[in-house]
Amino acid sequence: MTINAGLPVFKCEMCGSCCKMSPISILPHEAVVLESLADRINIRLEYIHGYMVYDALGGVNLALSYIMQLNNGQCPFLEGSKCRIHNIFKPYICRSFPYIPKHVKYHIDDVNKYIMASTDYGLSLACSVVRKHKEILEKYWAGNEESVDKILLHYFKDGYLAAVEGDNVRSLMLTLLSKLWRDGLVEIRQANYTAPVVNLYEYLRRFYPDLPSALGLDRIAYKVRAWLKAY
Ligand code: SF4
Ligand code: SF4
Repeated sequence: MTINAGLPVFKCEMCGSCCKMSPISILPHEAVVLESLADRINIRLEYIHGYMVYDALGGVNLALSYIMQLNNGQCPFLEGSKCRIHNIFKPYICRSFPYIPKHVKYHIDDVNKYIMASTDYGLSLACSVVRKHKEILEKYWAGNEESVDKILLHYFKDGYLAAVEGDNVRSLMLTLLSKLWRDGLVEIRQANYTAPVVNLYEYLRRFYPDLPSALGLDRIAYKVRAWLKAY
């Protein structure tokens, strides 16, 4: 089946309900930036760490992801039905919603000393727009199994690309960590639940000072200044 005008294009209705559904899974550098933005506008964030590994040389666990908790049933950055940081620094998972990771699976190879992740994505039926398009999407899916990427690029280009970029950023951090491991600067093991926890991004920055610019974080500084003036 050819992808043509018969397949709709996703348009967010800005209902804000995805910001109230569940805690928000974020990457380590996102936790640092969001914390700093929240500080500046006096809102309080609460995180729990997600998956972590243990560095036996440093004696710390490295958090590879975080889960930002809801506050009074909604994301602390939600105001009415609007995201306060929409144009500043929206986490990848928010930019890609309703195309979201169902599972992130980490693989640690002790012999070759690398760690990698694979992510299994799906379109969330928690979004009313996806529910509305469910039937036609399923029809296209059934006839185009080999071109799911093409369907997603047609249906939800920006969100799909945000998901791809988020995966690339996760892979970049894991690649840098794997390199430290092979260079003998860290010794990765399964998590040690009695050891303290350190944010992976913060940990990597000690070894890779250019990491913030590699992740594009230097480019958000001017947006933050403008945002704070308007706040
Ligand atoms: S639930 Fe869907 S329509 Fe509502 S804000 Fe989220 S993505 Fe947009
Ligand atoms: S950061 Fe913004 S888009 Fe993401 S859940 Fe919070 S309010 Fe919604």
